[in-house]
Amino acid sequence: VQAAYDRIDEVEEEVKSFLTLNKEQALEKAKQLDEAMPETTNPLYGIPAGIKDNIVTKGLRTTCASQFLSNFNDPLYDATVIDKLNKEQAVVIGKLNMDEFAMGSTTENSSYYDTRNPWNTDYVPGGSSGGSAAAVAAGEVFYSLGSDTGGSIRQPASFCGVVGLKPTYGLVSRFGLVAFASSLDQIGPLTRTVEDNAYVLQAIAGHCNMDSTSANVDIPNYHDVLKDGVKGLKIAVPKEYLSSQEGIQPEVREKVEAALEVFKSLGATVDEVSLPHSKYAVAAYYLLASSEASANLARFDGIRYGQRAENAENLIDLFKKSRSEGFGEEVKRRIMLGTFALSSGYYDAYYKKAQQVRTLIKQDFDKVFEDYDVIIGPTSPTPAYKIGEKIDDPLTMYADDVLTIPVNLAGVPGMSLPCGFSNDSHLPIGLQIIAKHFDEKTIYRAAYAYE
Ligand code: GLN
Repeated sequence: VQAAYDRIDEVEEEVKSFLTLNKEQALEKAKQLDEAMPETTNPLYGIPAGIKDNIVTKGLRTTCASQFLSNFNDPLYDATVIDKLNKEQAVVIGKLNMDEFAMGSTTENSSYYDTRNPWNTDYVPGGSSGGSAAAVAAGEVFYSLGSDTGGSIRQPASFCGVVGLKPTYGLVSRFGLVAFASSLDQIGPLTRTVEDNAYVLQAIAGHCNMDSTSANVDIPNYHDVLKDGVKGLKIAVPKEYLSSQEGIQPEVREKVEAALEVFKSLGATVDEVSLPHSKYAVAAYYLLASSEASANLARFDGIRYGQRAENAENLIDLFKKSRSEGFGEEVKRRIMLGTFALSSGYYDAYYKKAQQVRTLIKQDFDKVFEDYDVIIGPTSPTPAYKIGEKIDDPLTMYADDVLTIPVNLAGVPGMSLPCGFSNDSHLPIGLQIIAKHFDEKTIYRAAYAYE
C-alpha cells in the first residue's frame, strides 16, 4: 500500500487518475493486515485497489466527477462490491476520475480535470472509466473497478493497454453504483493480467438482495479454467466488426487479424459471421441510455444530495438553479435527449422503437452463440487520440462506441485485452472477446491462452 502511494507521488501529477485519496485509513488498514497476517491468505489480502468514483464508499468522498456531488464527503454505506472487497481484506486507496456520471469516452467530461494516457500524456485514456484504466497502466494500483454501460470499462482498457471485463448483466451487484442507465450498467475489474482479472471478478461476483436485477446463479471458479487452452474453441468474427464502413482503422484490423492467427495456431477455429443489426446499436443505445439517465438523474434536485443553489425564489427555481449549476454540458445534453425521447407523442417513435432494436440485437448474438463459443473483434475502431481532438464533436465520439455498445444491449459479457500497438502513435490496441450470458469462464480461458 505504501508502494502504491509512492508510485502515485511519482506519476500522479502527470497522469491525474485519482480524484480522492484515502491515505491515512488505507495505511492504517495495511498495518493491521500486516500484523494479523494469517498463514494462508486469499489473493486480494492487503492488495491496493482503486475505485471508480461512481461507486459509493462509506466515509470516502464519492463525486461521480460531478460538481453536483463535490461535497458528498461522507456517504453512509458501502456499495456491495466494496463490502465484498472488504471481506477479502483488500485495501481501497482512493477514488478514480471518470466522465461526469459515466457519460463520455475520454474522461474529458470530468468536471475536475482530464486524466492523461500514461503511454503518452498528450492522449486521452478513454472513458468513462479513464481514471480506472490509467491508474492500472501507470502502476499506481494493481487493479481497479470501473463501470460499463456502453463500453466504459473495455474502451479505456483498450486505450491504456490493460485487461478490462464487463461481466454479464446481473452477475455483479449494482447496489451502491450511482445509476446512469440501470438496464445496462455493470461494474467490472481492470487489471494488468488476465489472471488478476479472474481473481477480482471472483471476489465481486454473486447474488445480492439489494439489487433486484442481480442474478441468482452459481459462481464458478474462474481460476480453475485458465490453463485449459483453446483447442477446438469455436470463434466467430462478425464481418461488421472489421469493416471500414464502421470506421475500423486498417491497423486495428491488422492487429486483430494477427491475434486470430494466434488463436488458430493454438487449435481454435475461426469463421466469419454477421451481426446484421449492429449498425443500429449506437442509435438505439443513445436513446435508451439517455432515457434511463433522464429518469435516474431526477433525484439530483438540490434537496436530497449535494449541490444546492443559493438565492432560489421558490421550489421550482431551486430545482432549476441547482441542476443548471451542478451538471456539466454532456449530462445536460443526455437529460434533454432522454426527456424528449420519453415524452408523450414521441415515445413510440423513439423509446419503443429503440427497445425493439435492442431485442433484434440480442437475437443476433443468441443466433451466433448457437454455433460458436466466443465472438472476437476489436474493442474500439481506433487507438487513443489526442486530448481535445474529439470533445467538440459528440456525434463522432458516440459513433466510436459501435463495437462495445451491442454487448451491453445484449447483456452478454465482454473483455478487452491488449493485442499490439499502433504503428503511428505507438499506443495500445485492444482485442475484444465476447461470450454467452454467464460464460465469463470461456472468456478467461481464451484470453489467458492468447496472453
Ligand atoms: N461512451 C459511452 C457513453 O458515453 C459509454 C458510457 C459508459 O459505458 N458508461 O454513454
